Amino acid sequence: MVMLSLFPGLGYIFLGWMAGVVWPAAIWYGLNVLVSLRGLWLYHHFKSKLMGERELRRWCRKVMLFVYVFFLLWALIFVIYVRESSFNLHYIAIFTQIGATTVAASFLYPVPSLYRPIVPLMMLLLVIYFAGIGEWYGYVLSIFASILGGVLYYAASSTYSLLETTHRQAAHDLLTGLNNRQHFMERLQQMMMDLKETRGCSFLLLVDLDHFKTVNDSLGHAVGDRLLEEVAKRMRWTVPRDCCLARLGGDEFIVIGEEYLHTESCERHALELAEALLSRLKETYVVSGHRIYISASIGVRVFSHEEQDSGSLVREADIAMYEAKGAGRDGVVLFNEEVSRRVELHLQIERLLHFALENDEIRLCYQPIVDEEKCIVGAECLARWTSGTLGEVPPDRFIPIAEQTGLIIRLGEHILATAFSTLSKWHEQGLKLQQFSVNISVRQLLHHDFVDHVRMLAERFLLPELLNVVVFEITETVIAAEVRSVVAAMDELQHLGIHFSMDDFGTGYSSLSYLKQLPVKELKIDREFVRNVCDDGESQALISAILNIADTLGLMVVAEGIEREAEYLFLRNLGCRYFQGYHFSHPLDPDDFQRLMIPAHDQGLYERNGT
Ligand code: C2E
Ligand code: MG
Ligand code: MG
Repeated sequence: MVMLSLFPGLGYIFLGWMAGVVWPAAIWYGLNVLVSLRGLWLYHHFKSKLMGERELRRWCRKVMLFVYVFFLLWALIFVIYVRESSFNLHYIAIFTQIGATTVAASFLYPVPSLYRPIVPLMMLLLVIYFAGIGEWYGYVLSIFASILGGVLYYAASSTYSLLETTHRQAAHDLLTGLNNRQHFMERLQQMMMDLKETRGCSFLLLVDLDHFKTVNDSLGHAVGDRLLEEVAKRMRWTVPRDCCLARLGGDEFIVIGEEYLHTESCERHALELAEALLSRLKETYVVSGHRIYISASIGVRVFSHEEQDSGSLVREADIAMYEAKGAGRDGVVLFNEEVSRRVELHLQIERLLHFALENDEIRLCYQPIVDEEKCIVGAECLARWTSGTLGEVPPDRFIPIAEQTGLIIRLGEHILATAFSTLSKWHEQGLKLQQFSVNISVRQLLHHDFVDHVRMLAERFLLPELLNVVVFEITETVIAAEVRSVVAAMDELQHLGIHFSMDDFGTGYSSLSYLKQLPVKELKIDREFVRNVCDDGESQALISAILNIADTLGLMVVAEGIEREAEYLFLRNLGCRYFQGYHFSHPLDPDDFQRLMIPAHDQGLYERNGT
C-alpha cells in the first residue's frame, strides 16, 4: 500500500505543477511520505518482535490510525484536483478516487472496522461530486458511483465472511466447537508473551475423562460423540469467559487460565476451577436415552513469565494428569518438583530396566514360609534389582513399570528360569520343600505362550514330581478385570501340576464372587492386616473371616509380614497355620537360604517337612 502511494504520488506533484497547484500537491506528498514512513515502521516492528496480546492490541490500534490517515490523504488529493478543470485534472481525480476505494475494498476486507467506514465514505465523496454537477449525466454518474460503492462493499464483506469461516474451521474442533490444538498452542504462546510483559503467572488445566473408552466400546461412537459435546458444553459453562478452552483430541480437554500477579492466588484459583470442573462433569448425563456417569482426572500446571517452552508446559500438565489417574482417577494433581522427580525416576527406571537383564542385574531372594512350629516348609521367590546407576530398586517400583511396558514377559521368563533352576539344585542337594512360590503378574499369565514357556522350563529344569511344589502367586487386585481368561490359563497350568495362591488377599475388590471360580489352593493375608492385628478389632475380624472362608473352601492360609512374636501368637490362636515375615527371616540369597535350612535338616526338621 505504501509503494502504491509513494510512486504514483510523484506523478501527482508533476500534475500539480502543470495545473499551478504545485504547493498543495507538494505538501500533500510530504504528508504522504511521513505517513508511509510510519507505516513502514509499524510493519518492521511487527516482523521483528514477538508480541503479547496486549502489545498486539496496541499495535493494531496504531495500524488502524495509520490506515485512516492514509485514505484521508487520498481523499484530500481528490478534493484538491477535482476542482481543477485545466488539463482535465478532474478526470484524474475521479479515477484516483475510484482506484483508492477499490484498493480499500480489496486490501482492508480482513478488518471490518476499517473497510466498513472507509469504502462508503470514499465513494460518498464521488457521489456528492457527481450530484453537484447539476446535469442529468451527473445524477446518472452519482447513481452509478453509489452502485459501485455498494458492489465494492459487498465484495469486501463476503470475502471477510469467507475468511472468517475458513479461520473458524481451522481454529476450532468440528465436534465440540471448542478451540483446537493448533489454536490452543497459539493462544498459549500468546499468553506466555503477555506474562513476560506483566511478569504475572497463569495455569493450564489438562482434563481427561476417566474410562471414556468404555462408553465408546459399550454404547457406540455416536453416543461417545454426544457425550463429548455435552462435556464440552458443561466445561464452557464452568470455565470463566476470559480463559481459553480447547479440545486437544479424543477425550482430552485443556484450559488456559486467566492472568494472576501472585503464584499463590493463581494456584488457588486453578485448584478451585479444577474442583468445580470435576464436580460439574461428574453429574449424570442422559445421552440418547442412556444414563451415563463419567468422572475426570485433571493435571494442573501453574506457570510464570520465566517459562520458555509451551510444549513442555503441556507435557507437564499431562504428567500431573497421569499422576491423578494413577492415584485412583477422579482427582486433581498439581505439577510440582516432587511429581517431576517421581516421573523422572519412573522414566529412568523404565529406560534402565531394559538393560537390567543384559547386565545381569536381576537376582532372586528367597523368603522362608514357616508352619505353626516355625519350621520352614516353603519359600517365596522375590526379585531384586541392583542397578549400576540407581542402586537397589525395590520390586514394588520396578515390577509395575515392567508390567506397563510389557518387559515383564522377558523379566518373568528370566525369574522363572532362575527360580526353577534353584529349586532343582536344592532338590539335588537334598533340600526338599513342601512349597516353592513364585510371583506371577497377570500380564504374564495372559501372555499367549506363557503356558508353553512354563512347560518348556519345567521339562528343562524340574523332575515331574517337583512341579507339584511350585505355587504361582497371583495378586488379587488385578484378577478382577479378566477373570475368564485368567481361569483358562490357570486351568492349563494346573494340569501341569502347578498350584495357585492368591496374594495380598483382602486388599482387592470383592474377591468372594470369583474365589470359587479360581483354582487356588492358598490365600495370603496381606501384611497390612497383620501389622495391626494385635490392637485393631477390624483387622482381627477380617482375618477371622478370611480364615473361616478358607476353612469352608478347604484353602491353606499364609499370613504375610509377621514382624513380632505377638503377631505370630495371635494369628496362631486365631487358627492360622502358615506364616512369613521378618520375624522368622528376611528374604535371603540362595546360599543363605540353604545355610538356614541345613541346621533344620540336622535337627530333623527338614525331614519332617520334606515331601
Ligand atoms: P508380595 O508378593 O506380597 O511379597 C511380599 C513382600 O513383603 C516382599 O516385598 C517381602 O520382602 C515383604 N515382606 C516379607 N516379610 C515382611 C515383613 O515382616 N515386614 C514387611 N514390612 N515386609 C515384609 P518385596 O520383595 O519388596 O516385594 C514386593 C512385591 O513385589 C511383592 O509382594 C510382589 O507383589 C512383587 N514382586 C516381588 N518379586 C516379584 C517377581 O518375581 N515377580 C512379580 N511378578 N512380582 C514380584
Ligand atoms: Mg507374593
Ligand atoms: Mg503379598
